[in-house]
Amino acid sequence: MDEIKEQNVNLQNPQGQNQGGGGKRRRRKKRKGGGGQNGQNAQNQQAQQVVEQAAQQERAKPQPQQQKQKQKQKQNKQADDGRKDTYAYVLDGNLYINLTNKCSNGCDFCVRNERASYYGHYLWLRHGEPTVDKVIAAVKQLGDLSQFKEVVFCGFGEPTYKVAEMVELCDYFHEKGLKTRLNTNGQGNLINKRDIVPEIKGKIDFVNVSLNASCAEKYQKICRSQFKEMGFDALVEFAKICRRNGVKCRFSIVDCIGEEEVEACKKLAESVKVPLYIRKYITDS
Ligand code: SF4
Repeated sequence: MDEIKEQNVNLQNPQGQNQGGGGKRRRRKKRKGGGGQNGQNAQNQQAQQVVEQAAQQERAKPQPQQQKQKQKQKQNKQADDGRKDTYAYVLDGNLYINLTNKCSNGCDFCVRNERASYYGHYLWLRHGEPTVDKVIAAVKQLGDLSQFKEVVFCGFGEPTYKVAEMVELCDYFHEKGLKTRLNTNGQGNLINKRDIVPEIKGKIDFVNVSLNASCAEKYQKICRSQFKEMGFDALVEFAKICRRNGVKCRFSIVDCIGEEEVEACKKLAESVKVPLYIRKYITDS
């Protein structure tokens, strides 16, 4: 306790100068005011708490920048909620049909990983997969069908999950004089647990199977099929069955997988007598 008192004194007289009798008087005064000092400290603490509380409240208030961001997020969400699902869209003069968001793969390079849209088309289906009627209604809104080069079943998912709808739609498009193409990961027979080639024969005019790699191990590393390495074997088999059944078919790869891998893919395609299409790697705009 004495120590504390002494410190108080020293605080009042930081230089610690001996100031004779006058100093003694002052010291006595200050000792007298010891209780006042404690009171002062308590007041100071209180004042500090008030200042801190005020600062906390200020910090808790949304800042103008944060407010703007929150408002934008809210607006985006409202726009997303109000947005109609895209069942049909136009790209490069072709009519594309988006039947499902299901896929047996989880490809590293899939555009779905990073975005909700593809060339400005929002392809996540928020209100469920479309019926044939809904697709036809969406197609009708795109104007005269004769403007399109072909109809392509390709969206944010693997179209062979919806093989029945696809086949029915092919009849509709054929009636309108349009050719049909299926862009697939080639795992439709595993997905449907049956050979679907007889079903698509005469309905799909052209099948493009994404090969992506030269062997099952490499394929699985980048495409992560739920069927594991069977996924790759199944896609090669699917292309072979298409060819054997007279369904026009090709494999496709992108040119950025490395020269050695491109060569290996060429060899594989030749060995099963399925043409290989090597396309330029293009990123979405
Ligand atoms: S197969 Fe196609 S839709 Fe499925 S994950 Fe791969 S790139 Fe995406």
